[in-house]
Amino acid sequence: MCLTPAVRTGELFDLLRDGRPWTRAQLADATGLARSTITTRIDTLMRLGLVAPFGGARSTGGRPPALFALNPTAQLVVGIDVGATHARAALTDLNGSILGEVDAQLAVADGPGPVLTWVVESVRDLLAGSERPIGDLAAIGIGLPGPVEHSTGRPINPPIMPGWDRYDVPGHLQAHYPVPVLVDNDVNIMALGERRRHLRDVDDLVLIKVATGIGAGIVSGGVLQRGAQGTAGDLGHVRVPGADDVPCRCGNTGCLEAVAAGPALAAAVRALGEQAETGGDVVELVRAGSQPAMAVVRQAGRDIGEVVATMVNLINPSVVVIGGQVAGAGEHLLAGIRESVYQRSLPLATEHLRIVTSRAGGEAAVLGASALAIEHVLSPEVVEAASEALAAADAAAEAGLQRSL
Ligand SMILES: [Zn+2]
Repeated sequence: MCLTPAVRTGELFDLLRDGRPWTRAQLADATGLARSTITTRIDTLMRLGLVAPFGGARSTGGRPPALFALNPTAQLVVGIDVGATHARAALTDLNGSILGEVDAQLAVADGPGPVLTWVVESVRDLLAGSERPIGDLAAIGIGLPGPVEHSTGRPINPPIMPGWDRYDVPGHLQAHYPVPVLVDNDVNIMALGERRRHLRDVDDLVLIKVATGIGAGIVSGGVLQRGAQGTAGDLGHVRVPGADDVPCRCGNTGCLEAVAAGPALAAAVRALGEQAETGGDVVELVRAGSQPAMAVVRQAGRDIGEVVATMVNLINPSVVVIGGQVAGAGEHLLAGIRESVYQRSLPLATEHLRIVTSRAGGEAAVLGASALAIEHVLSPEVVEAASEALAAADAAAEAGLQRSL
């Protein structure tokens, strides 16, 4: 890759953030910048703490360090996953390595007051536990179980979150921590977390969460796709064939969620004479070998597969990850999904397609919330702004020195 000579500090850092060590010569080759310019910009990044000599400083011989890499412990972020009835927060470094974790049984329906109070306290406790100062916190990422307008961080008409409509989540948290606060929906952060932990080299993937509702997080060309308003991937209310008479909580009929999400599966299993209240109960029955539960889950897989087949044709992912509570039914669910997808999608789109269950599981969301924060902190724009602020401070100090002479 050869960038233009106009490459700035933030863009130079974009090369270094992959974590591999680079020499000045390699950076000069990759950017087209002069070695002297590289040296100046590396100095700036080292003063910001974002870059460090690789393998420790070399003191012998007084030679400057030869290799440089991202310094992942320079700053910290907190990733938070707020679910319907639970919440989890994790303190991570800039590699996404978890340094501390807390969780709680917490109802999102209690409203933003109690939930965000828990968040504020958790951030404080995590920092205290790591013995790092509050100044080391660079950003907070948070996932919520409803639609979020990404540009403002506000939930918009979230169906299971009374009191949260258009609530200023970033503003609330920034009154306690003056750092960027990134908010997204739970499925998007799960997709980011799964990718960061297990699918780093996969640029085109879809994560489908099958739980009380159904939704998808879409990564295309390595970038999370939110759409114009942030509602991309809302699969739950796509119509599936053969379900025209089934009412959905959204007011329509025949929605995927109405036939294949946890509550629908529990109802279908009950109709076959088993006991089940939630999708989790259905998963337990499948694991215990219940034939009716297996049949219901397999049919849900086929219904989900009908919609996934259309997605596969539209966006051509290389991996489809199935996550959420119902994914615990494993192969029984996957078999149904594969059946529909391979039947209905174009052969070229499915030739190398993998359909798998989530490996990050319960950690995917909190890892993804951390990834959302890290992406922001390490973005070329934010690093460039920090280096310009440093240069301005240097210039001001220099001017002050001149005046005092
Ligand atoms: Zn619906």
